[in-house]
Amino acid sequence: KTSLVITDAEIWSAIQAENRRQEDHIELIASENYVSCAVLEAQGSQLTNKYAEGYPGKRYYGGCEHVDVVEQLAIDRLKKLFGADCANVQANSGSQANQAVLMAFAKPGDTIMGMSLAEGGHLTHGMALNMSGKWFNVVAYGLNAKEEIDYDKMEALAREHKPKIIIAGASAYALRIDFPRFAKIAKEVGAIFWVDMAHYAGLIAAGFYPNPVPHADVVTSTTHKTLRGPRGGIILMKAAHEKAINSAIFPGLQGGPLMHVIAAKAVAFKEALAPEFKAYQEQVVENAIVMAKALINRGLRIVSGRTESHVFLVDLRAKKITGKEAEAALGKAHITVNKNAIPNDPEKPFVTSGIRIGSPAMTTRGFTEIEAEQVANLIADVLDAPNDEHVLASVREKVAVLCKKFPVYG
Ligand code: PLP
Repeated sequence: KTSLVITDAEIWSAIQAENRRQEDHIELIASENYVSCAVLEAQGSQLTNKYAEGYPGKRYYGGCEHVDVVEQLAIDRLKKLFGADCANVQANSGSQANQAVLMAFAKPGDTIMGMSLAEGGHLTHGMALNMSGKWFNVVAYGLNAKEEIDYDKMEALAREHKPKIIIAGASAYALRIDFPRFAKIAKEVGAIFWVDMAHYAGLIAAGFYPNPVPHADVVTSTTHKTLRGPRGGIILMKAAHEKAINSAIFPGLQGGPLMHVIAAKAVAFKEALAPEFKAYQEQVVENAIVMAKALINRGLRIVSGRTESHVFLVDLRAKKITGKEAEAALGKAHITVNKNAIPNDPEKPFVTSGIRIGSPAMTTRGFTEIEAEQVANLIADVLDAPNDEHVLASVREKVAVLCKKFPVYG
């Protein structure tokens, strides 16, 4: 019954430092968010003690009557949120949800088609060093000259290579994806149509981004990005695919599910079904649009020219600074972003010519259009003088004022 600070002062103190960092920095990493205290409480509960291999009502362990209630609530809420036939809430991460889809519908050596990592796709969609790229024959599509998904090329590649699976979804793509167009070509070539909506899930739940669920055979997501839940994965599927997906997760890839995380997912889904979540997501999109426009006014180019979501990429070349340098300079000013390759990037992947900016976390702490414009101007101030200590100190002070005014957990 001893508290953490007594049992392990080193871990306790690192957690306190991280808490302070989260309060004192403006978080613009597009894949991050701040969960509610209710989600934290569920995840920190005694449910972490329970083994529950199997699914509700069909477990391989005794004593599962209460965790069954938890998992069933998570499943039912998730299905309602996205209008899905069936749902699996056990995937431990977005990557494991994606592995389950590959395991359910393809064999090593089969051809799969996804968006190239260099142009906005995710590692698990066929990157050479990832299992998806090592075990499968990957055909990748990308962007056209307007930096929009090259649908014509994607269709031509699908007809030529007849992949087993076609993947739509991205980690760094600001525009709306035409899911019906993907679904049509998948049907034509006899492919499973899989959407990875990890980045857009919260926007989709609230109606501010197109819902892929009616069009896709299977939809995967993380729960911790725009959806604002605990770290983890989920899978939605048509009824015909439920058995294949459930068996791929357990016993295919995982053992006992993380019941404390599933409880936290259920809480986040309840929050996402509430009217306030709609208002939050509307503000997320509005804040991203305001930031992109303000950066354009300060002489920067936005990849694809605009954003229609929570995220966008900034081409830094006009300011003669790399993504790596920009990330470091902004970090000194207490603004957290990640460097990100832009299409046809002349720099190496660890250096890059871009940064990725996302609005979900800053919107959770209460920033609206006024603060979004201010944040964009602070970013531009840093990019204009990344080595000027006075500028960095002045931006840091302004960040501190904003963060104090809008505490995350108070
Ligand atoms: N899919 C997409 C589109 C992502 O952007 C990410 C994470 O960034 C993932 C999957 C993987 O999620 P995880 O980090 O939980 O494995």
